[in-house]
Amino acid sequence: MAEVDEVAVGIDLGTTYSCVGVWQHDRVEIIANDHGNRTTPSYVAFTDTERFIGQAAKNQAALNPVNTIFGNAKRLIGRGFLDSTVQSDMKLWPFEVINDGDNKPKIVVTYKEVEKQFSPEELSAMVLIKMKEIAEVYLGRNVNNAVVTVPAHFNDSQRQATKDAATIAGLNVLQVLVEPTAAAVAYGLDKNLTSSVGEKTVLVFDLGGGTFDVSLLKIKKDSFEVKATAGNTHLGGEDFDNRLLNYFIEEFERKHKKDIRKSAKSLRRLKNACEKAKRVLSHNTVTTIDVDSLYEGIDYCSKITRARFEELNMDLFESCMDTVKKCLEDAEMDICSVHDVVLVGGSTRIPKVQELLQKFFKGKELCKNINPDEAVAYGAAVQAAILSGEGGNNIKNLVLLDVTPLSLGIEIKGGIMSVIIPRNTTIPISVLQRGFSNPDGYGTDVAINVYEGERTRAEHNNLLGTFALSDLPPAPEGTIAIWVTFTVDANGVLHVSAENTATGLVNSITIDKRGTLTKEEIERMVKDAEQFKAEDEDFRRKFDKMQELKDYVYKTRDFAERNYNLDASDKTMISFYCKEAIEWLDANKNAEIHEYEYKKQHFKALCERFNISGSSGIKIEKIE
Ligand code: AMP
Repeated sequence: MAEVDEVAVGIDLGTTYSCVGVWQHDRVEIIANDHGNRTTPSYVAFTDTERFIGQAAKNQAALNPVNTIFGNAKRLIGRGFLDSTVQSDMKLWPFEVINDGDNKPKIVVTYKEVEKQFSPEELSAMVLIKMKEIAEVYLGRNVNNAVVTVPAHFNDSQRQATKDAATIAGLNVLQVLVEPTAAAVAYGLDKNLTSSVGEKTVLVFDLGGGTFDVSLLKIKKDSFEVKATAGNTHLGGEDFDNRLLNYFIEEFERKHKKDIRKSAKSLRRLKNACEKAKRVLSHNTVTTIDVDSLYEGIDYCSKITRARFEELNMDLFESCMDTVKKCLEDAEMDICSVHDVVLVGGSTRIPKVQELLQKFFKGKELCKNINPDEAVAYGAAVQAAILSGEGGNNIKNLVLLDVTPLSLGIEIKGGIMSVIIPRNTTIPISVLQRGFSNPDGYGTDVAINVYEGERTRAEHNNLLGTFALSDLPPAPEGTIAIWVTFTVDANGVLHVSAENTATGLVNSITIDKRGTLTKEEIERMVKDAEQFKAEDEDFRRKFDKMQELKDYVYKTRDFAERNYNLDASDKTMISFYCKEAIEWLDANKNAEIHEYEYKKQHFKALCERFNISGSSGIKIEKIE
């Protein structure tokens, strides 16, 4: 890790709120903004005269809803315009989002009376600039380096876009750190775990404004290792606010026969009131919404109980518990192996969420000592200090380890995905896999198609990139050895290289942007893999049988060709049987297992008459 001779801060770039911290005097300082608050709304607003960021932007949101961007940049960042979540989110936003023609979303606002379009990266950069300024005012010096956090389930494209946003903001990103790991660092230091012996398994339950992450970490002295993660980049406080909002919109409609959806301003004002009411309901069992002149001069006042709020959101709260279950299953752990459940993110203050979680862990006390709004920035600040060489003795040896959210591999003959790095493997990691070879005889190029996903067939997974190993010497199928190396760095960026050691030929690819895979797509891919497991296994068994027969035929043909003790007429016969078997294989790519077995027995019986034997079990495309 390169040491940076400058101060470095940790920034939690949140969906709804952002927070910045710095390591000073052997501890983390969470820095207050110009309003004296330790978290800053991730809002950007444009008016006829000015641009506002943070608290000032939030304060004027209700008056200027179509030009106030609140937390949305994080929901859009690294996604394609046609992404289903972007399409459904857009419907609830008061401002316009357009396709820039390249499937990239752009937010349209009016600034100083001129229409402007901004990418999510640019808007996130504006929030980051604000956080940088807050730190600079406090420290009295320039801040150019930062560790920026992202949800654990952000894919490479989303991580890369967040990094781009920081670059636009003039920040050098020392590391893109995942939020639960950052929170676990805050917890670990708080509990003094880094100086204790033994190992602790901690489940970080991070429910923020717009994203939800569950991570299982092993903390052992100075090392923080993520064992598994699960989550939803599209679930959080905003969704709970929207449920309340819809409830009141309908109530207003019933009482006054008017649809406030027609006014962006009324919607924004009601939504702000909903968010406030939700917070109050974390402490009180009932509260009132009171908005003067909400729509067409009508004052609106209504009561809501905690029980009603819970009822409106119960399915969402319960889905959080399913995610916890999934994370434990992925890590092959049960609830007894978890020493502590750490709450992070403002929405973990909701009593029902805490109640369900505690019930899930059979009454276990939840760990609430770390500040849920600041824990992520705290951990990021610690990591920033370590990377810039400013950390004190108590933190300088900390090692933070993340995992890959999906399996990574290459396509091999038969369209199969050969997994090189399985899902939930700790990163950074580098894996060299020998045993691949040329899938086609006498070609000089071998295409290496890199995929991520959980399905057996490569075409069902996500193609990350393709490159070729060229100028290979022409040789029969399966005879040129190819080694493939997969390296995933600490930021989750993948580098793949392929090499033929005999000729020294090498080629590689760095995959900075893994398509525009969203968290939902990752979840869908994992779910699909489970759902289609039986089908995939069936395909794999058939494929193996087909390959076994094919290997046997080729081996027999090669053996016969090189066997000088065989008569010419026998050779001709064997060659004929082999040709016939190869033609049969070409014509029966989707045959049943028993058909391949029968064909093999039949072929074997024919050839055995000539006192030669083939061999099975050698995979042509992957030498084992
Ligand atoms: P974060 O992204 O971690 O900053 O979380 C922000 C989210 O937490 C927002 O949706 C807030 O409305 C929500 N939040 C903050 N405080 C409370 C509270 N007391 N009760 C319920 N939700 C809260």
